[in-house]
Amino acid sequence: MSVRRHNLSVVLNHLRVHGGRSRARIAADTGLNKATVSSLVAELLGRGLVREGEIERGSVGRPGQTIELDATNFIALGAEVAIDYVSIMATNLRGEVVSEQRLALDTAGLQAGIVLRRLAGLVGSVIEPLAAGGAVPVGLTLALPGITDPASGLVWDAPNLGWHETAVLEPLRRHLGEPAYPILLENEANAAVLAELDVRGRAAAPDLLLITGATGVGGGIVTGGRLLRGSRGFAGELGHMQVDPAGRRCRCGRVGCFETVVGLGALLRALAPQGDPVRDPSIDVVQRLDEVRSRLEAGDPVARAAVEQIGDGLVQGCGSLVNIFNPGMIVLGGYFAVLGQWFAPRLRSELDTEVFAPKSGGCSIELSTLGFSAAVRGGALRATRHVFDEPGLVPFRADVRETSGALS
Ligand SMILES: [Zn+2]
Repeated sequence: MSVRRHNLSVVLNHLRVHGGRSRARIAADTGLNKATVSSLVAELLGRGLVREGEIERGSVGRPGQTIELDATNFIALGAEVAIDYVSIMATNLRGEVVSEQRLALDTAGLQAGIVLRRLAGLVGSVIEPLAAGGAVPVGLTLALPGITDPASGLVWDAPNLGWHETAVLEPLRRHLGEPAYPILLENEANAAVLAELDVRGRAAAPDLLLITGATGVGGGIVTGGRLLRGSRGFAGELGHMQVDPAGRRCRCGRVGCFETVVGLGALLRALAPQGDPVRDPSIDVVQRLDEVRSRLEAGDPVARAAVEQIGDGLVQGCGSLVNIFNPGMIVLGGYFAVLGQWFAPRLRSELDTEVFAPKSGGCSIELSTLGFSAAVRGGALRATRHVFDEPGLVPFRADVRETSGALS
């Protein structure tokens, strides 16, 4: 990367983290000289990434015009294919949600091409009104519950979707009309972890384990403030850790995987017979979980027993994970968080029985506040980071106006 491209990123990130300030103060803070900062700010203004704010009367030099991040000209997109739905979130460059949509869809029952076409339609319905208002998409991250290969744009294996060595980026790009912005690929739980770290702050949670409960069970492992990806990027498949050798066959072909014991499917099987609306994938998952919650609150003994059963599995699985990773915090995401009031107290009181280290190795149990939006939020965040790393790739506003048709 050239020095100038690097310095553009330094200035833009400085404004994101520390807020608006004068050119003189940016120079003093970053150690860049004033002429360089003026030139860099001119370029960032031209690209629509910053704007001039109020006059600053600070301690450094003469009063100067404040330069601040202009989050509103751009949107970053996170998209997710889950087992029961597809969803999309658009944020501005500050990570504030601009638009979000989720469509209940039995994705496992459909061909990959059809699912991706439906997702592209949903993406279009979110982008079009925003683009009409002048916002330019800067990137999209597609999150999927499986082993993904971002370089080739393939999903190696997503057993719950039935996708094996399936091309996803190329068809999505085609259905979106070959957009100018980059499209990235990420595992669903790894995307969710990025969002959790953003909400909690990396410093506050340097050793964190996220366990997301949906039809599949995903995991994201953060050690020393960094996401653990493993040698080929496949780490964190907690859902396929064997916890019941005499148990059910998993969609991955093995027996007794963690997700066969604590996944949403296990809960719903224990809770209701086939034909009960809570098991109908055409109904939005949040709506179905609202119904489960009502049954629990009403003291329904079958629902209570089902949650007890899942709780047993969570204590056992989390115990093994704590023994291996010694996280400072386990964050329960997805449906584990939606029904967290029934899972978290049990884990807090019983985790210790499964952990070798005293007092569960200092591990606390927290609930994600991001619901089923964690992966799309993390995806949008990744697309945003790309702008902060390489602001020079964002087109100048004059160019955007000339070619706005091609970019929308
Ligand atoms: Zn499995």
